Amino acid sequence: MPKAEAIQVTIRIRPPSAAESAIGDSTVCHQIRDNTLSLETADGKANIECAYGAVLGQEAGQEDVFEAIKGTIVGVAEGINGCIFTYGQTGAGKTHTMLGSSPGNFDGITVRAVRRLFEDLHRNKTEQQKGGEESRFQVHCSFLQIYNEKLQDLLSGAESGNLNIREHKNSKTKKAEVFVSGLSEYRVTGVEDVLTLLSAGTRAREVRATDMNDISSRSHAVLQLSVEAESMGEDFSVLKRAKLSLVDLAGSEKMSTKSVLGKEHSKELTSINSSLSALGNVMSALGEKSRKHVPYRDSKLTRLLQDSLGGNTRTSVICCVSPCQSAAEETKSTLKFADRARRV
Ligand code: ADP
Ligand code: MG
Repeated sequence: MPKAEAIQVTIRIRPPSAAESAIGDSTVCHQIRDNTLSLETADGKANIECAYGAVLGQEAGQEDVFEAIKGTIVGVAEGINGCIFTYGQTGAGKTHTMLGSSPGNFDGITVRAVRRLFEDLHRNKTEQQKGGEESRFQVHCSFLQIYNEKLQDLLSGAESGNLNIREHKNSKTKKAEVFVSGLSEYRVTGVEDVLTLLSAGTRAREVRATDMNDISSRSHAVLQLSVEAESMGEDFSVLKRAKLSLVDLAGSEKMSTKSVLGKEHSKELTSINSSLSALGNVMSALGEKSRKHVPYRDSKLTRLLQDSLGGNTRTSVICCVSPCQSAAEETKSTLKFADRARRV
């Protein structure tokens, strides 16, 4: 079991795409052991070997990914936050890994994580009731995207404006909590409810995507489940609260120096790059023993996840990469991010 506060890094190498196969793009990134991969960079000279929490090769299925990261989820029913990110360049497999592929097929981590969460909550409740306690739990779900440093509700059913992040002190736990003012939250009682919200939210994301050229790969999507579980005996009561955050990050590709980008597009890339580097900075600051200053305020993403990134939290970063030579430079920069994140 990972210790609370630990950041676990997993690399997932996807199979070559049809387009990569069609041009005979050679495979330069291989899993060579459970936790090691090799990468030949574009100039063919370097052979980088790095050791990570886990490396999953082309043949790994969705269940294998879930098995690799489930330690991040199993504490949520016990009051330990869980935070899972998919990182990588556009097309590397982030959405496939987090949600699933093909319209309406949500067989990725999210549905497996939610199923597991409800199993844990029901099991705890049954055990507590057997022991003569009163026991209940509640789960609420929200789904938003961060685009150009603006927070947009994906479940409001209407075009949402820019929402603000606020902080308040929880009256029950006396702890400061971050919340998004005006964000819709739905009570969910099982995996089916979450699937319904996911469908609606991804549809809202796609509608915008066709409006403005695939915004979905240039925005961060954040699904959050807030869990409250309470048990009461004759002379005690226990309240456990935790959040499970599932984050499909925007594509990490660098701004191309060759193409001439419109003003709008380069503004987007600048805001993506700065929020991804803010995330990297927060992760590496959390890993330092002295931990003087964790720069949560440097981006909307890190600010939103402030209370579920540090402290009582298990975090998993799944870095998704293409196995092919044409992507080798981006793969190298994804592995650099992985390296920063894992030093915890
Ligand atoms: P991203 O969200 O990083 O831009 P996607 O998840 O949309 O990338 O993946 C790009 C394409 O590759 C999709 O068509 C997806 O179905 C496919 N794909 C990604 N990862 C895998 C995988 N591990 N196995 C099979 N197909 C994959
Ligand atoms: Mg995607």
